[in-house]
Amino acid sequence: MSQNTIFTKIINREIPADIIYEDDDTLAFKDINPQAPFHVLIIPKKAIATINDINDENSYLIGNLYTVAAKLAKQHNFADNGYRVVMNCNEHGGQTVYHIHLHMLAGKEMGWPPY
Ligand code: C5P
Repeated sequence: MSQNTIFTKIINREIPADIIYEDDDTLAFKDINPQAPFHVLIIPKKAIATINDINDENSYLIGNLYTVAAKLAKQHNFADNGYRVVMNCNEHGGQTVYHIHLHMLAGKEMGWPPY
């Protein structure tokens, strides 16, 4: 699988995105096809294709995604009402972009199960 996806282009500002958070390792931007009033993708700048590619060396980058989710929840006042974070893996998980990303969905009550 290619390490260069459309998200690499977003990180490099080669294509536009509505970026709401950035630090040295992490970027968060609004999903172009939102499934909730607030739907952002939180991604590591280093390309990791899928959950299957997480290892002892890069797992801190995944931890950072959740730290950013907690910050955004507080900033946007979703922390108390709650929200959902989802990471899809491969075809059966519904993954379409092979650069790992945490979906953060908020602003409405979510259903379960998610199908
Ligand atoms: O989990 P999955 O791989 O299916 O999610 C990819 C997400 O990336 C989709 O929700 C899609 O709307 C989003 N996307 C985006 N900006 C792009 C391309 C895809 O927000 N330029």
